[in-house]
Amino acid sequence: MHELSICYGLMDQVERIAAEQRAVKVVEIVLRIGPLSGVEPQLLAHAFPVAAAGGIAEDAELVIEDMPLRVYCEACDAESEAAPNRLLCGHCGGFYTRVVSGDEMLLARLELEREEEAAIGGSNNTTEDTENTEKTA
Ligand SMILES: [Zn+2]
Repeated sequence: MHELSICYGLMDQVERIAAEQRAVKVVEIVLRIGPLSGVEPQLLAHAFPVAAAGGIAEDAELVIEDMPLRVYCEACDAESEAAPNRLLCGHCGGFYTRVVSGDEMLLARLELEREEEAAIGGSNNTTEDTENTEKTA
Protein backbone atom coordinates (compact mmCIF):
# COMPACT_ATOMS: atom_id res chain seq x y z
CA MET A 1 0.00 0.00 0.00
CA HIS A 2 1.41 3.30 -1.24
CA GLU A 3 0.00 5.44 1.59
CA LEU A 4 1.41 3.15 4.28
CA SER A 5 4.97 3.50 2.99
CA ILE A 6 4.46 7.27 2.83
CA CYS A 7 3.31 7.14 6.44
CA TYR A 8 6.40 5.22 7.50
CA GLY A 9 8.55 7.83 5.74
CA LEU A 10 6.62 10.54 7.53
CA MET A 11 7.12 8.82 10.88
CA ASP A 12 10.89 8.74 10.27
CA GLN A 13 10.83 12.47 9.64
CA VAL A 14 8.58 13.16 12.65
CA GLU A 15 10.72 11.06 14.98
CA ARG A 16 13.89 12.76 13.76
CA ILE A 17 12.43 16.23 14.44
CA ALA A 18 10.99 15.10 17.78
CA ALA A 19 14.43 13.79 18.81
CA GLU A 20 16.09 17.06 17.78
CA GLN A 21 13.57 18.98 19.84
CA ARG A 22 13.93 16.56 22.77
CA ALA A 23 10.24 15.84 22.61
CA VAL A 24 8.74 12.97 24.54
CA LYS A 25 5.47 13.01 22.71
CA VAL A 26 4.01 14.23 19.45
CA VAL A 27 0.64 15.87 20.06
CA GLU A 28 -0.37 16.93 16.59
CA ILE A 29 0.89 16.48 13.05
CA VAL A 30 -0.35 18.87 10.38
CA LEU A 31 0.12 17.79 6.78
CA ARG A 32 -0.63 19.65 3.59
CA ILE A 33 -1.45 17.47 0.66
CA GLY A 34 -1.57 18.84 -2.87
CA PRO A 35 -4.13 17.57 -5.37
CA LEU A 36 -1.35 16.33 -7.68
CA SER A 37 0.76 14.70 -4.97
CA GLY A 38 -0.69 11.26 -5.70
CA VAL A 39 -1.46 10.89 -2.00
CA GLU A 40 -5.02 10.07 -1.06
CA PRO A 41 -5.72 11.94 2.22
CA GLN A 42 -8.34 9.42 3.35
CA LEU A 43 -6.06 6.44 2.79
CA LEU A 44 -3.24 8.27 4.52
CA ALA A 45 -5.44 8.92 7.54
CA HIS A 46 -6.26 5.20 7.67
CA ALA A 47 -2.62 4.18 7.35
CA PHE A 48 -1.42 6.64 9.98
CA PRO A 49 -2.33 4.66 13.15
CA VAL A 50 -0.60 1.59 11.71
CA ALA A 51 2.63 3.47 10.99
CA ALA A 52 2.51 5.43 14.25
CA ALA A 53 1.83 2.43 16.50
CA GLY A 54 4.47 2.00 19.19
CA GLY A 55 6.27 5.20 18.21
CA ILE A 56 6.51 8.68 19.65
CA ALA A 57 3.55 9.82 17.54
CA GLU A 58 1.27 6.97 18.60
CA ASP A 59 -1.26 9.29 20.27
CA ALA A 60 -0.79 12.20 17.90
CA GLU A 61 -3.68 13.72 16.08
CA LEU A 62 -3.24 13.82 12.33
CA VAL A 63 -4.59 16.94 10.65
CA ILE A 64 -4.68 17.03 6.88
CA GLU A 65 -5.02 20.33 5.05
CA ASP A 66 -5.52 20.88 1.36
CA MET A 67 -2.75 22.56 -0.50
CA PRO A 68 -3.86 24.74 -3.39
CA LEU A 69 -2.56 23.86 -6.81
CA ARG A 70 -0.58 26.73 -8.32
CA VAL A 71 0.98 27.02 -11.74
CA TYR A 72 3.55 29.35 -13.24
CA CYS A 73 2.94 30.58 -16.77
CA GLU A 74 5.93 30.75 -19.11
CA ALA A 75 4.02 33.00 -21.51
CA CYS A 76 2.99 35.84 -19.19
CA ASP A 77 5.30 35.19 -16.23
CA ALA A 78 2.42 34.98 -13.77
CA GLU A 79 1.45 32.57 -11.05
CA SER A 80 -2.14 31.50 -10.53
CA GLU A 81 -4.29 28.82 -9.01
CA ALA A 82 -5.38 26.03 -11.30
CA ALA A 83 -7.67 23.03 -11.27
CA PRO A 84 -5.96 19.63 -11.12
CA ASN A 85 -7.47 18.55 -14.42
CA ARG A 86 -6.89 21.87 -16.17
CA LEU A 87 -3.42 23.32 -15.74
CA LEU A 88 -4.07 26.59 -17.52
CA CYS A 89 -2.77 30.06 -16.68
CA GLY A 90 -5.36 32.05 -14.73
CA HIS A 91 -4.21 35.26 -16.42
CA CYS A 92 -3.83 34.52 -20.12
CA GLY A 93 -5.36 31.05 -20.33
CA GLY A 94 -2.12 29.69 -21.75
CA PHE A 95 -1.06 26.10 -21.28
CA TYR A 96 2.70 26.64 -21.10
CA THR A 97 2.55 26.26 -17.37
CA ARG A 98 4.44 24.34 -14.76
CA VAL A 99 3.26 23.36 -11.33
CA VAL A 100 4.85 25.38 -8.51
CA SER A 101 2.89 23.89 -5.63
CA GLY A 102 0.25 21.24 -5.12
CA ASP A 103 2.24 18.27 -6.38
CA GLU A 104 3.71 17.36 -3.03
CA MET A 105 2.97 16.44 0.52
CA LEU A 106 4.32 18.79 3.15
CA LEU A 107 4.84 18.34 6.84
CA ALA A 108 3.47 21.75 7.75
CA ARG A 109 3.55 21.71 11.53
CA LEU A 110 4.37 19.51 14.49
CA GLU A 111 3.07 20.04 17.97
CA LEU A 112 5.43 18.48 20.48
CA GLU A 113 5.50 17.85 24.16
CA ARG A 114 8.94 18.16 25.70
CA GLU A 115 10.66 16.25 28.43
CA GLU A 116 10.92 19.12 30.94
CA GLU A 117 7.23 19.88 30.56
CA ALA A 118 6.28 16.26 31.04
CA ALA A 119 8.50 16.09 34.15
CA ILE A 120 6.93 19.21 35.64
CA GLY A 121 3.60 17.73 34.79
CA GLY A 122 0.49 19.67 35.65
CA SER A 123 -2.61 19.99 33.61
CA ASN A 124 -1.46 22.96 31.53
CA ASN A 125 -0.90 21.74 28.04
CA THR A 126 2.24 23.61 27.11
CA THR A 127 3.46 22.58 23.74
CA GLU A 128 5.67 24.11 21.15
CA ASP A 129 4.90 24.47 17.50
CA THR A 130 7.61 23.67 15.06
CA GLU A 131 7.38 25.29 11.69
CA ASN A 132 8.71 22.94 9.12
CA THR A 133 8.64 23.23 5.39
CA GLU A 134 10.62 20.17 4.41
CA LYS A 135 9.26 18.30 1.47
CA THR A 136 8.14 14.79 2.18
CA ALA A 137 7.06 13.48 -1.17
ZN1 LIG B 1 -0.23 33.26 -18.66
